[in-house]
Amino acid sequence: MNCLEFHRQKLADPRRLSAEAQAHVHGCASCTAFARDVDEGERDLERALAVSVPEGLADRVLLRARGGRAPWQVWALAASVVLAVTFGILFYEKSQDQYARLAIEHVVMEPESLTTVRNADAEAFRAIVQSFGGTLKAPLGTLRYIRLCPVEEGTGWHIVFETPEGLATLIIVPGKSPGATQLASTPGWSALARPVPRGYYAVVTTSAQTSSRVDRLVSERIDWKT
Ligand SMILES: [Zn+2]
Ligand SMILES: [Zn+2]
Repeated sequence: MNCLEFHRQKLADPRRLSAEAQAHVHGCASCTAFARDVDEGERDLERALAVSVPEGLADRVLLRARGGRAPWQVWALAASVVLAVTFGILFYEKSQDQYARLAIEHVVMEPESLTTVRNADAEAFRAIVQSFGGTLKAPLGTLRYIRLCPVEEGTGWHIVFETPEGLATLIIVPGKSPGATQLASTPGWSALARPVPRGYYAVVTTSAQTSSRVDRLVSERIDWKT
């Protein structure tokens, strides 16, 4: 196993490493550091989501997202290196569809997000939307997966929910803007990225048609102007 494979496996399932991965990490200082950062991030997220009083959740999620940032930044940097290695230098070129492409790459790199149920907490999702200046007027669909993930140079929320046309991924990233709506497609995936007041969101599904329907759903159910 090499470092790239280790990073992938660690990001895929931080708590269950194969024997091969365990053997690798024992002999590799940089992967040991990477694993520690991922574990710290996991604990931060668990604390952020393990809040019994929903009223406090928004603040705590925000605190977690902006406060104890150092380990996440390290993780994000490590993950962006993995992405760069995997997809070439694609996202260093500031193309017109950069953010939409990043969202597809994110989903491709984290296939377990579409097969696992994780932190599927409606109040957490509501708090995340609020932290971006939005109001959730009605549920988007049954939530399956919420994770604070490494993105470009920071972290963003990775959300998966069920729609009548299958699973949809919503990635919400603070502090960056695509400027205008972006579209990107690769074989098997289609993404749409759209600016919101405090960042942007991207919808990723398996077809352009579905992505555009899910995007419409997002704009109907989330009021971003508050
Ligand atoms: Zn290594
Ligand atoms: Zn993710």
